[in-house]
Amino acid sequence: VRRTWRNHTGNQTCRPQEIREPASLEDLVDLVRRAERERTTARVVGAHNSWSDVALTEGLLAEPARLRGGLLPLDDGCLREDAGGPFARVLAGTPLRQLNPALDAAGLALPNMGGYDAQTLAGVASTSTHGSGMRFGPFPDLVVSMDVVIAGGEVVRVEPAGGITDAAAFSRARRRAASHPGRPLPRRRLRHWVPGARAFARDPGSRQLLPRRGPRARHVGAGAGLADGGRRPR
Ligand SMILES: Cc1cc2nc3c(=O)[nH]c(=O)nc-3n(C[C@H](O)[C@H](O)[C@H](O)COP(=O)(O)OP(=O)(O)OC[C@H]3O[C@@H](n4cnc5c(N)ncnc54)[C@H](O)[C@@H]3O)c2cc1C
Repeated sequence: VRRTWRNHTGNQTCRPQEIREPASLEDLVDLVRRAERERTTARVVGAHNSWSDVALTEGLLAEPARLRGGLLPLDDGCLREDAGGPFARVLAGTPLRQLNPALDAAGLALPNMGGYDAQTLAGVASTSTHGSGMRFGPFPDLVVSMDVVIAGGEVVRVEPAGGITDAAAFSRARRRAASHPGRPLPRRRLRHWVPGARAFARDPGSRQLLPRRGPRARHVGAGAGLADGGRRPR
């Protein structure tokens, strides 16, 4: 039965084929594979706070109610010894208002905030939510590592080249996972994230204030739970 989904302000609605609440990475993998079998789309939403139509779908919609929590163990067995930091590993559906006290308890804090704290980490990272201040980047600048479920239900860890994950340890973990049938196999692709994007800042005065290669990520590493929203299978 189709139910109507609404954003926070009620100016955006849609009627997804089904609304689900995945509770694990495996559930997200199943969701994407099911969408492909049924030749529809899968989209994970956050806290419904976007005013635009970015979260709308007629396909399978996943709510993040069970993809949230405090800080996860930072070292998943693959953290590089010289990774630097401080970092935190967090589930993508964690609302900022749950993340902030968890960071505080660990002696950490976000360097900047927008004007609200109900949004989820994946929501603010994927829409470039920002606060004020020319020297502070938007939320995606804080993300140094992401586990993402992509087409085919493949789980990919995405990081800048030379990221926080030890590639050799990650390959070993992947081989171990391969010996457990039914578990998704993590794969790693190294990518630079938008290294040149800041060159697009038009105002020369503003550009002078911005770091040449983008601000160094300082606090937050996002954990599993992102899904490839809205991508139609081939
Ligand atoms: C009261 C209020 C104050 C605000 N203040 C600010 C502000 O100060 N600065 C600012 O820049 N913006 C602000 N915003 C806008 C808001 O921060 C963004 O719209 C943000 O994206 C909302 O996050 P959300 O968790 O609600 O995500 P949603 O709106 O639910 O989703 C946003 C997008 O993220 C995607 N997404 C969410 N979770 C996942 C996931 N797990 N995997 C894959 N994709 C995912 C969705 O598919 C969608 O495309 C404000 C909004 C409100 C309502």
